[in-house]
Amino acid sequence: MITAEDILGKDFARDGVDMDGFQKQARSYAIYKKEFKTVYPTLGLVSEAGEVADKIKKWLRDGDANKEDIAKELGDVLWYVAILAEDLGYPLSDVALMNIDKLDNRKKRGKLRGSGDNR
Ligand SMILES: [Mg+2]
Repeated sequence: MITAEDILGKDFARDGVDMDGFQKQARSYAIYKKEFKTVYPTLGLVSEAGEVADKIKKWLRDGDANKEDIAKELGDVLWYVAILAEDLGYPLSDVALMNIDKLDNRKKRGKLRGSGDNR
């Protein structure tokens, strides 16, 4: 398994990967035109999520999977999430915290099950 320490070095990886630092680094690899802001990363996000689903589908079909390959696809998903969040004006850490806050609120109210964005 590849660790953050392998890629980023011991000091950077010590406390985990900083989400906003990841977002900033991710942006440095983005090469789409400004007029495609939000649309390009949305299409990429859906495409990469499909790649994850395809690998899981083949896991079901074949009975085994290379989990590192799936993790790499999840990284692709994360890259597009980071870029889309930035295109929308959100630090990735804010997106993460908003999600935890939403889920924590649902949990406290016994609403983890069910459906609807605003339950
Ligand atoms: Mg991919």
